[in-house]
Amino acid sequence: MNEPCEDPYDLAVIGGGINGVGIAADAAGRGLKVYLCEQHDLASHTSSASSKLIHGGLRYLEHREFRLVREALAEREVLLAKAPHIIKPLRFILPHRPHLRPAWMIRFGLFCYDHLGRRRTLPGSRALRLGADSPLRPDMTRGFEYADCWVDDARLVVLNAMAARERGARLNTRTRCLSAQVRDGLWYLELQRVDGSRSVVRARALVNACGPWVADFLRDGLQRQPRHGVRLVQGSHIVVPRLYPGEQAYILQNEDRRIVFVIPWLERFSLIGTTDREYHGDPEQVRISEQETEYLLDVVNRHFRQPVERDDILHSFSGVRPLLDDESGDPSAVTRDYFLELHGAADQAPLLSVFGGKLTTYRRLAESALELLKPWLRDMGPRWTAGAPLPGGEEMSDPQRLAAQLLDQAPWLPTDLARRWAVSYGSRSWCLLGSATGLGDLGEHFGANLYAREVDYLRREEWAQTAEDILWRRSKLGLFLGPEQHAGLEAYLQREPLKMR
Ligand SMILES: Cc1cc2nc3c(=O)[nH]c(=O)nc-3n(C[C@H](O)[C@H](O)[C@H](O)COP(=O)(O)OP(=O)(O)OC[C@H]3O[C@@H](n4cnc5c(N)ncnc54)[C@H](O)[C@@H]3O)c2cc1C
Repeated sequence: MNEPCEDPYDLAVIGGGINGVGIAADAAGRGLKVYLCEQHDLASHTSSASSKLIHGGLRYLEHREFRLVREALAEREVLLAKAPHIIKPLRFILPHRPHLRPAWMIRFGLFCYDHLGRRRTLPGSRALRLGADSPLRPDMTRGFEYADCWVDDARLVVLNAMAARERGARLNTRTRCLSAQVRDGLWYLELQRVDGSRSVVRARALVNACGPWVADFLRDGLQRQPRHGVRLVQGSHIVVPRLYPGEQAYILQNEDRRIVFVIPWLERFSLIGTTDREYHGDPEQVRISEQETEYLLDVVNRHFRQPVERDDILHSFSGVRPLLDDESGDPSAVTRDYFLELHGAADQAPLLSVFGGKLTTYRRLAESALELLKPWLRDMGPRWTAGAPLPGGEEMSDPQRLAAQLLDQAPWLPTDLARRWAVSYGSRSWCLLGSATGLGDLGEHFGANLYAREVDYLRREEWAQTAEDILWRRSKLGLFLGPEQHAGLEAYLQREPLKMR
């Protein structure tokens, strides 16, 4: 192991998914000196492959996950206030079909959903009649409506990473932690960058937030036997051209008692998912299977008037849920709650491993993690994240108003661009716009209103390095750019070194 060249950190976090960056941001804001490493790009695994919902999880009520549902319901409005640019309320319609859960049970479930968690701005649920304008098949005439929220999952991760950095944390992407061991009361982490170079950092406490790799890292990187098992459960989504006009989403109850969401996405598309499938392979290689594709198409075609065929699929993605193994026989019934496993006696450097969790509960998970580490890191400050905006969420409440203000100040901006910037960068759109006075100042155009100025902003401020980082995680412009435009962006990234401010 190389010798470390800097002072020890208070806390080192391994993993740049939502749980790792959430813990790093919270810890940095409490005055701790924080380090985080991510082996690939931020949010490159489970945290960008979700259904993109900030939700209580209506179906978890059936599995009696009341603690999780209560916490998640209350988080909806907390997170909406922290990041109103990337999170928005979303209305769900649940059609009632006689062969499934009886109407009284759904009504009772929705009553609990309305009352279990705090709710100030989101509307309550109600029963509905589905009329002739419904995109659902004509035999579905009744249903229910309730509200949850939608989130840009990958950007939620990046904004938390920025929040951590703005409070003094150091974050290295494309840096893998090979191993960690305790010497003289400190953790020594051996790190390897993508170019093969190695370094060592030291820390008083260590968090293993490796997501689907949490148990592997415990075994191989830390030489410890996990006390709890992890259950890898694959979930996949397909993207098709928009199935219906209107901003509402649908929650479809399938005959196997699972549910599938159909969610309006990026104005032109519908996002359909998800599945629950036991997974035993390498989490990096997870891909949608034939069977999952058939399953999703079948559920949609049983509900919607407009048929969807395999050829309509424009894009698909899959992720692996790193769930705590509760020995449930059915992958869709395995608990979605999180579990924090702490190793370390009072006089030893502590290790905390994160199992399970939801995007929705990342902030509360981070608070719980820091409470557990407090006996070792006594000088940390109090909780602070509940009322603090994420980067871009400062001084804004409504992205539509922000888009109008951008167009007011820069009438030459294409309207679609102003709208996209407002829902991606919030009030940081002003930094992006800078002193530009015309489209020419935005630099090279790669297609779909992506200009060099935004690419450079993402490289400088948001750790983006490759075209994939930019097109699939910092944005979803990959859905709009053709192969030649993609190659143009690649060429620019190779050709133009990053210009620092
Ligand atoms: C199909 C699907 C749908 C979902 N839908 C929702 C939803 O709608 N709402 C919701 O709230 N939740 C949802 N979830 C759950 C949510 O996405 C996950 O709970 C969450 O993203 C897990 O985050 P994580 O940080 O634990 O894992 P990850 O995002 O996977 O992050 C772990 C990171 O650790 C890194 N890493 C691993 N080993 C090392 C190492 N040795 N060195 C450095 N880095 C390392 C990995 O590269 C990875 O980026 C969904 C999950 C799935 C799969």
